[in-house]
Amino acid sequence: TDDLFKNVISHAKEYGFVFQSSEIYDGLSAVYDYGQNGSELKNNIKTYWWKAMVQMNENIVGIDSAIFMHPTIWKASGHVDGFSDPMIDNKDSKKRYRADQLLEDRIAQLDEEGKTSEAEELQIEMDNALKAENLPRLRELIIEQNIKCPVSGTANWTDVRQFNLMFSTQVGAIADESDTIYLRPETAQGIFVNYLNVQKSGRMKIPFGIAQIGKAFRNEVIARQFIIRMREFEQMEMQFFVRPGTQREWFDKWKQTRLNWHLALGTAPEKYRYHEHTKLAHYADAAFDIEYNFPFGFKEVEGIHSRTDFDLSQHEKFSRKKMQYFDPEVDPETGKPYGNYIPYVIETSIGLDRMFLLTLINAYEEEDLSTEEKQDSRTVLRLHPALAPVKAAIFPLTKKDGLPEKAREIMDKLKLNFNLQYEEKDAIGKRYRRQDAIGTPFCITVDHQSLEDNTVTIRHRDTMEQERVNADDLERIIGDLVSW
Ligand code: ATP
Repeated sequence: TDDLFKNVISHAKEYGFVFQSSEIYDGLSAVYDYGQNGSELKNNIKTYWWKAMVQMNENIVGIDSAIFMHPTIWKASGHVDGFSDPMIDNKDSKKRYRADQLLEDRIAQLDEEGKTSEAEELQIEMDNALKAENLPRLRELIIEQNIKCPVSGTANWTDVRQFNLMFSTQVGAIADESDTIYLRPETAQGIFVNYLNVQKSGRMKIPFGIAQIGKAFRNEVIARQFIIRMREFEQMEMQFFVRPGTQREWFDKWKQTRLNWHLALGTAPEKYRYHEHTKLAHYADAAFDIEYNFPFGFKEVEGIHSRTDFDLSQHEKFSRKKMQYFDPEVDPETGKPYGNYIPYVIETSIGLDRMFLLTLINAYEEEDLSTEEKQDSRTVLRLHPALAPVKAAIFPLTKKDGLPEKAREIMDKLKLNFNLQYEEKDAIGKRYRRQDAIGTPFCITVDHQSLEDNTVTIRHRDTMEQERVNADDLERIIGDLVSW
């Protein structure tokens, strides 16, 4: 399984999906670029999400708020004071680690050694220390457990310190403290601070939602597992505003709806599981993660949180602007309108990059095609056709006899509607393999017969079967499979 992960990473690079950022300068840690196929795949995932959330729900609208926001927003949201990780440095290697991560690794090790009660005890001790923000206690536990730095091999540790995850920068020409602003660590606050703008301008009635796709930035100290933990990443978030008291019902609905969104791509249900948060943030009244079984284990891809009226109340307090909504609907119990209140919020928050990695890993297959006569194999991405970066590749069988011209003519008719690739180099078999490797659902070959009767062969990625069809039917055939 380790190999599978490594193979997917090198495949992603070799076929133009993901590159290390600034690679010719030896890279920038935990930052990645999406290549020609990666950006198409990423856009298709966004489209799938946007259609499912915004287009299919009449009471959900989308916005695109700025990355830079008023710095007080991050005081109100709790990020200035609370958004930090407890870090510890090894004095010999000068390497920095997350204190809780060192302990988590130790707990996993104890578990593996069958020392379950010791593991449980340590887990409780750690949770208590984290809850109480007792940093000296975290250090004590690390020392007690004799946890060593994987690099230096020593247990020579500094104190544990809180390390804020937000990036800051300066606006304006003359930089002083008051000009410090942050790169947003989540997209959600852009929705909260615009909730009344959208509600009023869109005449939205509760329950309603606001969705957004955008970049977020976190100064993650430990960058690992490829695009799972990045310093610059993208989120797809939706805040759903509901009447207080109805949050549980909406939470359960969104929890199910979001899992269904994942499963509708054809992923095996056993690859997914829910993880319920038992330690809830002080503002939350329920929280579940949707986890996917990556080659390195189950890992959070999406969070569904019931955030109460915490965020809007905080913004009311810090901005001194009313955040209330007037609900004209009549409460059947009192016979009077529900009136003014601050809505409760159910949030669904998915990491686009993690979804991208999940999609790639889930689609990746090294398929053995050997027969008794000869050994053969291919690497194929079994992507949902709607997500595939290239929908069809058009091949003239040879480079002469007017076949390229005919192939181009077919391509020109289709390329406004579908992302296509034209290829005339190498044998057809080799061209098929290149398209399999990027997940192209159809390969269309133009041969001599095409010139006579306008038919072409269409070869299907998954079955590798070929059929002959009229070129005029291609639009419908491709459209049927690659549309949502
Ligand atoms: P984790 O515990 O893995 O750090 P989180 O609980 O901090 O994640 P949230 O704040 O709930 O994550 O963010 C919502 C989603 O954003 C996550 O489910 C994840 O998919 C994505 N995400 C969060 N941090 C990163 C990151 N550093 N790189 C890539 N995606 C991220």
